[in-house]
Amino acid sequence: MTYRWVIPLEAGSSDMRPLLGGKGAGLADMLRLRIPTLPGFVITTEAWRAHTPGSRSLPSDLWKAVKEALAVLEEKSGKVLGSVTNPLVVSVRSSPLVSMPGQMRTVLNVGLTDDVVNGLAETSGDPTFAYDAFGLLIQMYGEAVHNVPGNGFGDALRDTAQTGPALDELLAVFEEQTGEGFPQDSYVQLEQSIAAVFDSWFAEHAREYRASHDIPDDQGTAVVVQQMAFGSLGPDSGSGVVFTRNPATGEKELYGEYLPSSQGERLVGGHVTPGDISVLSAELPASYAELEAVCSRLEEFYRDVQDIEFTIEKGNLWILQTRVATRTPLAAVRAAVDMADEGLISRGDALWRVDARSIGQVFVPVFAHPSPAGLVAKGIQSSPGAATGQVVFTAEQARRVAGKGLPVILVKEETTADDAAIMPMVAGILTQRGGATSHAAVVARGLGKPCVVGCKEMVIDASGGVVALGEMRVAQGHDISIDGTTGEVYGGWKEVVSPQFGGIWELDALLGWADEMAQVRVLADVSTATEIEAALDLGIEGIGLCCTERMYYDSVFLPHVRVAMLGDSPAVRQTALEELHGLHREEFRALLRASHDRRVTVRLLSAPVDHFLPDRETLLIELAELRTAQGWSEEIGQREKMLEAIDSLRQSNPEFGLRGIRLLAAFPELVKAQMEALLQAAADVRGEGSSIDLGILIPFASHAGEIRRVLEALGDIAHRVAETTGTPISYRVGAVVETPRAAIVADDLASLVEFVCFDTDSLTDAVFCLSREDSSKLLSGYVAEGITGSDPLTALDVEGVGSLMRLAVERARTGRPGIEIGVCGSHCLDPTAMSLLDEYRVDFVACHLSQLLSARLMAGQQAVRRQVDQRPGGLG
Ligand code: ADP
Ligand code: MG
Repeated sequence: MTYRWVIPLEAGSSDMRPLLGGKGAGLADMLRLRIPTLPGFVITTEAWRAHTPGSRSLPSDLWKAVKEALAVLEEKSGKVLGSVTNPLVVSVRSSPLVSMPGQMRTVLNVGLTDDVVNGLAETSGDPTFAYDAFGLLIQMYGEAVHNVPGNGFGDALRDTAQTGPALDELLAVFEEQTGEGFPQDSYVQLEQSIAAVFDSWFAEHAREYRASHDIPDDQGTAVVVQQMAFGSLGPDSGSGVVFTRNPATGEKELYGEYLPSSQGERLVGGHVTPGDISVLSAELPASYAELEAVCSRLEEFYRDVQDIEFTIEKGNLWILQTRVATRTPLAAVRAAVDMADEGLISRGDALWRVDARSIGQVFVPVFAHPSPAGLVAKGIQSSPGAATGQVVFTAEQARRVAGKGLPVILVKEETTADDAAIMPMVAGILTQRGGATSHAAVVARGLGKPCVVGCKEMVIDASGGVVALGEMRVAQGHDISIDGTTGEVYGGWKEVVSPQFGGIWELDALLGWADEMAQVRVLADVSTATEIEAALDLGIEGIGLCCTERMYYDSVFLPHVRVAMLGDSPAVRQTALEELHGLHREEFRALLRASHDRRVTVRLLSAPVDHFLPDRETLLIELAELRTAQGWSEEIGQREKMLEAIDSLRQSNPEFGLRGIRLLAAFPELVKAQMEALLQAAADVRGEGSSIDLGILIPFASHAGEIRRVLEALGDIAHRVAETTGTPISYRVGAVVETPRAAIVADDLASLVEFVCFDTDSLTDAVFCLSREDSSKLLSGYVAEGITGSDPLTALDVEGVGSLMRLAVERARTGRPGIEIGVCGSHCLDPTAMSLLDEYRVDFVACHLSQLLSARLMAGQQAVRRQVDQRPGGLG
């Protein structure tokens, strides 16, 4: 049996990523690409499995393999571990498969001992450099192997910073904190560092990070042992981090930070304030040019934006890490479109470079120049977006400053109802207490204002007019910046960019490509004229579903609806119907005008009759009060009759009862009044010279007979309207498929209508025989206990509901070849559902306003995936 425990970097590559981890694979790739990378080897994730957690030594076979690899490394580097005259110094770095920033340990400068460091001081001619490096090792080794807290070396380190290395002091602190002397054997340092980096996988914060990022606990980490490059060897040395494109805005520019004469750890640890990358181009132009070339080479190779760590030692550039850069949704969109235009990736790939669910966040403000510099505290991110402005402590101050047009950040222990009025005027909100559902968080989210809450490190002295943020004190009127997307708080002013709708041409381009590639078109599911206009502004081609329930629930409509249903004489009912007709006609005209000549599909009344009945309990109380106040009266008689009528109509299972088109049998005049008002409105709008594209959806039909009835009624009414108005009107009729029977006999229904539209919500309820109002708790329990994989109310049940839909789609196409098929319901933004709809060649989905952009992208993504899957030798 051969153990793949230790692999030299030169023998690795990307496809060994599970063994090498992300960092190891990246280094191996760079070596092959002849990008300047220092030699080293990887101790694999398989070796991690063989290691006993908590043990400070490695299994003897493994340690033997490490020593063999070390011998090769010594040969390659021409240096020897532990040598006084020519020492090999290495870093011991974590390399998990998925990068876990800041969660795992690293030990730099392994190999330095009292003797070695004296030798290094002499041979390098730079004692400060050598002792500094040793100091860093003692500190990082103490942290990694003995869990000495970061500030455990506090005073000694401060002395080091001020007066040069106070090594004796550091070594003494080490001994005091750990109860043992610092190991003066380079091999012991190496073995224990490797074991410690392995074990850092199990740190509490690392576990939490994995849990929140869906990284399996048993994946483990590899460890990279690599020769050190020294960034602290004078002015032509330094270290930095560079992104191949701006990770906040997506702009194509080298973006990053550089700290001259430093070891990188100080930089990534956020201990110091680096300069931006232009410092490098000014100070070491040749290295900068080389770095630029490396950046484009790596982008070309990985075909994605990279986040690169580097060190320059005496003018020589060494790349230490490359990984796919995390980026804001705005940057993701821009970079994807640019990379496609540059020919780096295909347009199909570009669609997959953007997370469909977060695409709506492209409009969230971001810092133009993101950097850890100036970070002073962290709270809970509760409303996304970056904001910068003057600190104010009260609503009063906020009003005064914001009134002058200046941006302010409202800083409070917590906000109260009194602050709500001022919150629309502030740039951002920062509170010391509270969580994601606190007053500040909830109000800010509603307003779309950046907000950070629960910032525990913050101490407010409002009467003194100052706030302490960690070490920093900021007085009222001075600037701070917050990032509600990450919870970070910065001292000082940071430039914010706020993309405007319509201002990001890359978004239009990307969605245009998605539309071109998509099988499933995205239409809107909206129900007011304002929403229709908003959807069309977003570039949506039409309204796939316009529900009419909201009209009936309206306080002006509802009394008439009740009289029309329950009124005790035909004359009373007739008057109510006429009122309704007028109100409806006005509403429908507004809807049709807002749609211009785009398609708009109006669904006839669908809700159960119970939703329109007066509340029974209230009626009973009123009756009791009337009875005690005054014997019998006419009012009492009316209410008693009403109660009777309600009781005769109340259903024990409204969702499965008298609703939708079934109402045509029970309340023919009511339903016909709606049809007539709609067709009249259509004639009116046509009469105004506008063309219209009207669809009428029949809800809750499960039998062809029901459809025939509707078609007859509509035909009669249309005929009458055309005669009285002199305007012929055309419309298309469709049926909602929302009962299992409708799905089963979809061929029958389809033969009578021009389109069908699944309602996956109703269909799911009916297929499971559950009501979402009552069952969501049951289902979340099912998911938690693993009884069902996912909650069918949010993720489409592929095996059950999905199979029924497949059958219905086939049958509908048999009943009427080429019939248009659509889907509405809350499952449209579930990628699995979208992939199924794409596979069934469904024509459209109808989505809510807030989902339209995501759905368009997702529809394009799924079509691309299908095409790749179908290509021979595709991604499979
Ligand atoms: P993390 O996974 O937290 O980014 P790394 O393993 O990348 O940790 O190490 C942190 C920093 O230490 C690097 O960014 C780099 O600046 C420095 N570093 C690591 N290995 C070396 C090396 N061989 N030579 C020079 N600097 C190194
Ligand atoms: Mg790193």
